[in-house]
Formats: sequence, structure tokens, C-alpha cells
Amino acid sequence: MSVALVERPSPVELVETRPVHARMLGGIPVADHLSRGELLIGQRTGEVGSVHSWELVTAVDGPGTRMTTFLAGCPLRCLYCHNPDTMTANRGVPVLADDLLARIRRYRGVFAATGGGITLSGGEVLQQPAYARRILRGAKELGVHTAIDTSGFLGRNADDDLLADVDLVLLDVKAGDEPTYHRVTGRRLQPTLDFGRRLDALGIETWIRFVLVPGLTDDPATIASIADYAASLGCVTRVEVLPFHQMGRGKWAELGLSYELAETAPPSAELVASTRAIFSSRGLTCF
Ligand code: SF4
Repeated sequence: MSVALVERPSPVELVETRPVHARMLGGIPVADHLSRGELLIGQRTGEVGSVHSWELVTAVDGPGTRMTTFLAGCPLRCLYCHNPDTMTANRGVPVLADDLLARIRRYRGVFAATGGGITLSGGEVLQQPAYARRILRGAKELGVHTAIDTSGFLGRNADDDLLADVDLVLLDVKAGDEPTYHRVTGRRLQPTLDFGRRLDALGIETWIRFVLVPGLTDDPATIASIADYAASLGCVTRVEVLPFHQMGRGKWAELGLSYELAETAPPSAELVASTRAIFSSRGLTCF
């Protein structure tokens, strides 16, 4: 019999036929049992995502205790990326949306008690919009607060339906001008700015996040551009200035990638304070 004539069950049906000793990703089953064809279909429908990892965190990635899920694959190549192993989609493992949602369901009590919820991060969450849509919709049906952490570069992938299930966007604005943005990420800034304007029009609460890197993103004039932009958006309730650190350095070496910031020191406390002051002076709440 030709292989093409073998009838395969859909990814959803395959949940029932999963081997007992399947690989797990922090307690969530990895869908290793899917064929390549089933994976492709599942990724298109959003039943399957490429997931790097997940963790429970408090006081980062949004309010309260959060289950942050890192999706694999990102179109940017930030010089300071501390998770360069999330840049390519093939470094993730396949996880069924139903399995991720089952884990989210288990933490509903924790989320309710702490004012927390889920955050979809990456990599770039909007590189897998169908999967994100399923997870966000499922979480809302469970009454769970939802956030996405995104550069906004693929904001066009998020239709209004998807955004209707998002309570909070953590919008990473990596520079305030095109040349610096390109130097930092290899991409253009404008899609991020456009996405922020859309969030404002839709009235979706947004936190702006900015990574401060000495010698790379610390020009006060370009930071002022980000601050002016953030202040022009009524949806921005908070700005976070994140000091550059070297915690991702080892991963660049492990992956055999050249790391340009090896000699860059974290910003001084004075530089962090003066940067936050640029945002505060526009009436923004800045941490
Ligand atoms: S957007 Fe995030 S995941 Fe992508 S390269 Fe930049 S820091 Fe890394």
C-alpha cells in the first residue's frame, strides 16, 4: 500500500494515541507523536505551537504571578538577546494548545489570588499567531488575565480578533530611531510604532519596555524619541527601563554565534536613573 493512502488521524485525535512515556516540557507533554505533515497542519490551525520553554514568575512579564511561555522563532536579531536559542523556530518543541491550556487551567487559583495570568513571550509570539490566538482565547474562557510580550515588528499578524483576547501588551521598543533600531535588531522600527498606534486605537493597556545598553541605546536624544512616542499613546500605563546584563553571553557561545557585546558593561545606576527621568519628565510612570 502506498504511504499516501494511509489515513492519518488529525492532531486533535492524536492526543488520545500519545505514548505513555512521551517527552515532557516542564511537565507539559511534547507532541513528538505527530508526523511532519500533521505538525504543519497543526501549526497552521493553531492546534500545535513550537514552544521553547515556560516558567512561573512573579513581578515580571506583567502583574501578579504569571505563567510565561516562550515561543520559538523570532524575526529580529537583537545584539543583546539573552535567549538567542529562541531565535529559530526549530529550537522549540511541538506542544498542543490543549496541553498548554490544561496547565494554565491548573494555575487559575494562583492567578486569581495574585492578580496574575499568562504571558506569551518568545522569541516572538506573533510569529505563531494561530497558536497564540487559541491560547489567548482559551485563557480568556478560563477567566485568566492575558498578556503578550512582543517587539511589535509582526504586529500585522495580530488581527483585531486576536487582540480582543489580550488584556495587556508588553511592547518592546528597542530604539527610538531607525538607524539605531536597525543596528540593534537588523530590522525596521516603523512596524513597532504602527502597532503601538493600533493598540492605542483599540484601547489595549500597554507597557513599553526598553533595554538600556551603554554605547548602543543610551543616546539621550533617541531615548527622548521613545519617551515622546510613549507619552503620545493614551494606552501606555507604564514604562520599564531594563538595564543590559551579560546573562545570555554563554548561550551565544554555545550556539557558535558571534556576540558583539562581550565587552559591554551593564549601565551605571546614574545612567539608569537619568534614562528613567527622561520618561518620567513626560508624565510617564517609569520603573
Ligand atoms: S526580539 Fe527578543 S527574542 Fe527576538 S532577538 Fe530580540 S531579544 Fe531575542
